[in-house]
Amino acid sequence: QLLDDGEGGVLFFSPSASSSSSSSGFGYGSIDKLRQRLPVYKYRTAILYLVETRATTIIVGETGSGKTTQIPQFLNEAGWADGGRVIACTQPRRLAVQAVASRVAEEMGVKLGEEVGYTIRFEDVTNTDKTVVKFLTDGVLLREMMDDPLLSKYSVIMVDEAHERSISTDILLGLLRKIQRRRPDLRLIISSATIEAKSMASFFRSSKRHQEAGATDLGPSKEPAILSVEGRGFNVEIHYVEEPVPDYVQAAVSTVLLIHDQEPAGDILVFLTGQDDIDAAVRLLTEEVQSHGKKSHGLIVLPLFSGLPRADQDLVFSPTPRGKRKVVISTNIAETSLTMEGVVYVVDSGFSKQRFYNPISDIENLVVAPISKASARQRAGRAGRVRPGKCYRLYTEEYFVKQMSSEGIPEIQRSKLVSCVIQLKALGIDNILGFKWPASPSSEAMIRALEVLYSLGVLDDDAKLTSPVGFQVAEIPLDPMISKMILASDQLGCAEEILTIAAALSIQSIWVSGRGMQKELDEAKLRFAAAEGDHVTFLNVYKGFLQSGKSSDWCRRNFVNAHAMKKVIEIRAQLKRIAQRLGIVLKSCESDMTVLRKAVTAGFFANACRLEAYGHNGMYKTVRGSQEVYIHPSSVLFRVNPKWVVYHSLVSTDRQYMQNVITIEPSWLPEAAPHFYQQRQLGPSIH
Ligand code: ADP
Ligand code: MG
Repeated sequence: QLLDDGEGGVLFFSPSASSSSSSSGFGYGSIDKLRQRLPVYKYRTAILYLVETRATTIIVGETGSGKTTQIPQFLNEAGWADGGRVIACTQPRRLAVQAVASRVAEEMGVKLGEEVGYTIRFEDVTNTDKTVVKFLTDGVLLREMMDDPLLSKYSVIMVDEAHERSISTDILLGLLRKIQRRRPDLRLIISSATIEAKSMASFFRSSKRHQEAGATDLGPSKEPAILSVEGRGFNVEIHYVEEPVPDYVQAAVSTVLLIHDQEPAGDILVFLTGQDDIDAAVRLLTEEVQSHGKKSHGLIVLPLFSGLPRADQDLVFSPTPRGKRKVVISTNIAETSLTMEGVVYVVDSGFSKQRFYNPISDIENLVVAPISKASARQRAGRAGRVRPGKCYRLYTEEYFVKQMSSEGIPEIQRSKLVSCVIQLKALGIDNILGFKWPASPSSEAMIRALEVLYSLGVLDDDAKLTSPVGFQVAEIPLDPMISKMILASDQLGCAEEILTIAAALSIQSIWVSGRGMQKELDEAKLRFAAAEGDHVTFLNVYKGFLQSGKSSDWCRRNFVNAHAMKKVIEIRAQLKRIAQRLGIVLKSCESDMTVLRKAVTAGFFANACRLEAYGHNGMYKTVRGSQEVYIHPSSVLFRVNPKWVVYHSLVSTDRQYMQNVITIEPSWLPEAAPHFYQQRQLGPSIH
């Protein structure tokens, strides 16, 4: 049933069985029965045939059709993991990696971490001798290339969720395209919910010149195949609001209560943007439930975002008890990466958190921004998994039609490229400007990245990695600025402290979420607050946590997030191993906070700011770009007005806010980065 589309020999398949089976109807069956009911099952033979005969297979199929959970199993059953080889499946999101790995382990009847395992940054749940199917983030697979540039242990690599176009996915696709030329035995599967399949195919189609240069005709065909899985979703009725809503959290909550009151059984999935607004919505709904309002009787309210503790994740996927209605309030992780059975109603805020980078100001922000039409359609589709559903869009139809952009912009075109450049350099890709990308990043962003890496001492005049600093920075799986800070701490004799700080900076927040109890949280913070700033405050909390014997009770009393602190301990242990491998001496600076602040400056000099105007919340300007920025209310330096600071990150809401701020001396800047800062730029500040 090969159907030629008549354009460049790209092949489409239609399903081999035309039965109208599948998703309709519940029923209790064995896991095998459930598997066989998934749309992708009918394509098993076709998929295996294509993977056998083609170097690259592109598989497009509706979310929930079984791509992620089934295809790796098909490959395993067909022997692709024989002889010690491993089947890899990448995901852009960590939470998705964990969730699908545990689902697949369950389906295969094995213990997670044995035949089926997963690896995300700072967490490796695999077994070298046993694991045959491995789920991992695309970022982790990129890291693995540093030790094994041809990824030789993998027989098939499935790059999943390719439509998300995460920055790591795009880098990975560019590199896999190169690896393929050296490894004819390697098979690639690119899978996604919606994708420009033809442009992806042409990306993987080798050039004429290369085909001639290919040593042999015996390998698989270089021509990528496209297979489209016809997964029948049910019809979803779309509702729009009549007028734009002023507060989408409030609107989402009201809509949920309205659905619960007026619509028949079926779970509700709400798309908000991040932990903050999700927590707020969960709290509003929970209050409603606890007040025993008739409108919320039988409602089970659950959050879903990355960083959620494991037990809470499991609740989201567990079946809804009879007579109850589940409402899951999620980030766009539930848009395509995860499927929840039983969702019949979707509430779409129309927003998600997105990364934006401005190469002129060199500022990268995570901002709440409107989604694309493609995303809106995916979100609506989640309502039609088990039966016809309804989607409530919290924006007007006119807005959808006239203003929403049709596709999102690939992340690589709206991100800072520092990490990306250093990884490519470490993999020996010297000519970065000539690298073939699925979507090219802007040259301004590229130049900015090269400039920062040069001033960090990571790249030399020829834009090659320096030895040892450049190679060491590349070795540490963190932002190069943090890696540089860690290396500097070795010379300054404060690696013990800096590793704790690096670990604390790599999680979202060590505090419990502040909504509704801001005052108590602020008071708790004061107990740990250090005059030097947030980094030193982390050290105080960490010390207190250890002294309490890592007590959850202590955490509760101090508004510290116990789960986050456990993560800090885990990450710190990993960083310690990496540091030891790099020969870093784990010395403590005891109470000498000056060396510690210098170490932070050595990594983060590019984020230096000077106070321009005193005030309730004083105004700062970045030294490099003269951008107006303010200290975030969550910082212990909020309202303190120190003259010189460096920040860890910026968030923008009504203004640009600096998060995690530490005080510095301006004279340290030219010391840390002579090329970046000349004395004259640091001119007089207000006194
Ligand atoms: P796709 O990758 O095509 O979006 P998946 O393979 O993720 O589809 O999901 C296929 C089906 O497996 C889903 O429809 C769902 O019923 C089931 N499933 C997936 N993950 C889980 C899970 N964690 N718990 C329960 N069921 C799951
Ligand atoms: Mg999937």
